[in-house]
Amino acid sequence: MLTIAVSKGRIYEDALPLLAEAGIVPTDDPKTCRKLILATTRPDVQLVIIRATDVPTFVEYGAADLGIAGKDVLIEHGAESLYEPLDLNIACCRLMTAAHKDAPKLSGRIRVATKYVKIAQSYFASQGIQAEIIKLYGSMELAPLVGLADCIVDLVDTGNTLRANDLEPRELIMNISSRLVVNKAAMKMKHEAISALLTQFEKTLANR
Ligand code: AMP
Repeated sequence: MLTIAVSKGRIYEDALPLLAEAGIVPTDDPKTCRKLILATTRPDVQLVIIRATDVPTFVEYGAADLGIAGKDVLIEHGAESLYEPLDLNIACCRLMTAAHKDAPKLSGRIRVATKYVKIAQSYFASQGIQAEIIKLYGSMELAPLVGLADCIVDLVDTGNTLRANDLEPRELIMNISSRLVVNKAAMKMKHEAISALLTQFEKTLANR
């Protein structure tokens, strides 16, 4: 049995066609079904549906053999203990700083709200900017509006969320896409099944 960890939402939606090409179609829809383990049309493959930030943990500990996770989550987690054999080129977006549209260029000591504490720390250090990082778990956009922070570090796709909250994107920190990650022991123990899946994904991606 191969277990693949995926998070609900954008990554799941973008991963579905890729999985389908490999004959993996979940038999339930996580939008309407509360099951956390989804069987698929391939009897040897199941999906576990978890929070995006938990995907590297499940794969690291071998609770899932493979996972699909954003590069943002992998860097923040520190995923040295995982193999990352494939850039799936899905759920693409940008990790950016953003501030109120009327705010001046940030300088001096600043406060930054984000869930990406490690990435933000190393980014502002690399820019020589003194930043106090405030960890939030969601609704980052609110922080500059209520005086909690001077700017945020968050994922930006269309920019609609920023615009709707009178914020604007400022500096690009990195481009993000989702990656396939593999548990190191599983890569050895289930080599045949995993490499067949990798080859299938590579083929699908090459044809896109
Ligand atoms: P948008 O309004 O299209 O710029 O999307 C921004 C919102 O969606 C923010 O709350 C982001 O955290 C979230 N978001 C954007 N792209 C992704 C992605 N690829 N994966 C997860 N969340 C995302």
